[in-house]
Amino acid sequence: MNSSGPPDDVEEEFPEESIGTIVEQVDTPEGTTFNAEIVQVFCPACGEQFVGTKRGAGGFIAGHRAYHEFENTADIRANQMGGA
Ligand SMILES: [Zn+2]
Repeated sequence: MNSSGPPDDVEEEFPEESIGTIVEQVDTPEGTTFNAEIVQVFCPACGEQFVGTKRGAGGFIAGHRAYHEFENTADIRANQMGGA
């Protein structure tokens, strides 16, 4: 999501150069992470890429897994309704 202009209150934005680095402190609405390693993950289903904390990566993976599972289920439902 690219809203126009830089965000005022620093959102968690990690450039690719930050992959593998340790961020001393990352503030999130849920809490503060110390010594957070910045990692890069891909979704095997759609190829989307995420760079950020492991916590964020976990959310990314879980979110995509849930989404694609839902997508598949919706497809199966649609096929069942359309066919037979
Ligand atoms: Zn995906």
